[in-house]
Amino acid sequence: SEDIIRRSEKLTLVGELAAGIAHEIRNPLTSLRGFMQMYMKEDIEGTRKLRNDVMISEIDRINEIVSELLVLAKPTNEVFELRDMAHIFNHVTRLLEGQANLYNVQIKGALDARLPLVQCQSSIKQVFINILKNAIESMPNGGEVVIQAKQMNENVYIRIHDEGHGIPQEEIAKIGNPFFTTKETGTGLGLMVSMRIIQNHRGTMRIESEVGKGTMVEVILPIHESRTASER
Ligand code: ADP
Ligand code: MG
Repeated sequence: SEDIIRRSEKLTLVGELAAGIAHEIRNPLTSLRGFMQMYMKEDIEGTRKLRNDVMISEIDRINEIVSELLVLAKPTNEVFELRDMAHIFNHVTRLLEGQANLYNVQIKGALDARLPLVQCQSSIKQVFINILKNAIESMPNGGEVVIQAKQMNENVYIRIHDEGHGIPQEEIAKIGNPFFTTKETGTGLGLMVSMRIIQNHRGTMRIESEVGKGTMVEVILPIHESRTASER
């Protein structure tokens, strides 16, 4: 079960995106507004803490959505530099350590020792954060995530395997659509943003998945990104 995801045309669906953003941001704002009105009218002990928690988590959600969207708004001419993939994976793994522990998930690296430096933007980190977060979230009862990386010809192949719940075949095609999520508090923006960043690197992303067994996300990046900003 293989599905190549190379749908840059999706990223031009600005209208659909804008409508979705408006909808997603309006919901938490409506809730915040209602609570604030209540605050002005009454002051009942006990319910205050609960409302406070709701307000804070709604604000966090707006922040999450907006910061994911900001990646899209970032200029695509961010500098390309030779970067060490092992270093990037270590950094990203450290960032996600807390969430991994919470899910009882172990992140393991299996990187080719002779991996070359790769010409990439610092935003490439966000791609691996998004993929690893999904891998962790797919295993609520714990498990293992394995990161493999190897060079072949002019590309590096990075594979992230999980042992999670997997993705039904009919859903694989929807991944990367703005706001496609199967999670209660998902944003459905992580992989769209990731695809955009990978596209900016002239790379590709591919997903293989089996329901009940797990998922493999493969990112292929050219080692040398030699084009100038105006060509991108
Ligand atoms: P979000 O994580 O906010 O839902 P993403 O764009 O990161 O948004 O992912 C979109 C959807 O793709 C997820 O809701 C989930 O259904 C599916 N998905 C992505 N990665 C995985 C994975 N490793 N295992 C299972 N499902 C996944
Ligand atoms: Mg995600």
